[in-house]
Amino acid sequence: MGIIEKMRLDGKKGFVTGAARGIGKCTATAFAEAGADVAIVDLDIEVAQQTAKEIAEATGRKVIAIKCDVTSEEDVQSMVDTVVKELGGLDFCHANAGICINAPADQMTYQQWLKNMDVNINSVFLTDTIAGRYMLAHGGGSIINTASMSGHIVNVPQPQCAYNASKAAVMQLTKSLAVEWAKRNVRVNSISPGYIGTELVLAAPHLKALIDQWNAMAPMGRLGKPEELESICVYLAGDTASFTTGSDFVIDGAFTCF
Ligand code: NAD
Repeated sequence: MGIIEKMRLDGKKGFVTGAARGIGKCTATAFAEAGADVAIVDLDIEVAQQTAKEIAEATGRKVIAIKCDVTSEEDVQSMVDTVVKELGGLDFCHANAGICINAPADQMTYQQWLKNMDVNINSVFLTDTIAGRYMLAHGGGSIINTASMSGHIVNVPQPQCAYNASKAAVMQLTKSLAVEWAKRNVRVNSISPGYIGTELVLAAPHLKALIDQWNAMAPMGRLGKPEELESICVYLAGDTASFTTGSDFVIDGAFTCF
């Protein structure tokens, strides 16, 4: 069997959070293109259902939509139970849902800080441990978390201390779980994208206005596309990544190199 065949995800079942649109939609599409059945997990169930329909039609795979607030333990448990029941198991997941709240630290309210932490890091703990419990009890699995280059550097000019801290925490949680579960066949890795042209950036006027400044700092002079994160996630979800755990993959067009 050739390497491309070995990387396929035929027969595997997984879910992606924050998959109605953006990066999550892209990786969910790629997982299905690689042969997996996938659940599109999102707060926005209407868009998630449309996304699931599009991916199912394009790939012929079983693709379901599940409404879930990833900050709710009850929702995440019920979502994982639904994935197992509807898809027949759980081999991989991509904990990807996230938000970006920008405010100068001396003006940020504690509520803003807590909201950012709840969606960007507490949710990853919930998703990883609830999915992980199933995987540990059923032979193993692969967990992918979306961190960010913001966990490695302090982005400028926008002030985003909470976002940066939450993404650094995603990386360290990833490594901690990877070490705890290394002998039990559950792998945990993270991806750290640079600036990617999704609605998180394009639909936020205060961020969209900064694109030219970011591009001036970027070695490639452009934003990344969500599609440029697909292949690393398919690799991480699959069996050729069997020795890959506890790693963070920076995909940023060399933005953080200097
Ligand atoms: P996006 O805003 O386009 O999509 C995020 C999705 O998450 C939306 O569909 C939204 O409904 C969903 N979501 C938000 N809160 C949720 C919750 N509590 N429960 C369930 N779903 C929820 O964003 P994106 O750019 O695709 O970002 C995806 C991830 O990638 C985030 O973790 C983000 O921090 C990270 N990231 C993005 C960039 C970028 O430049 N776009 C760069 C690095 C990292």
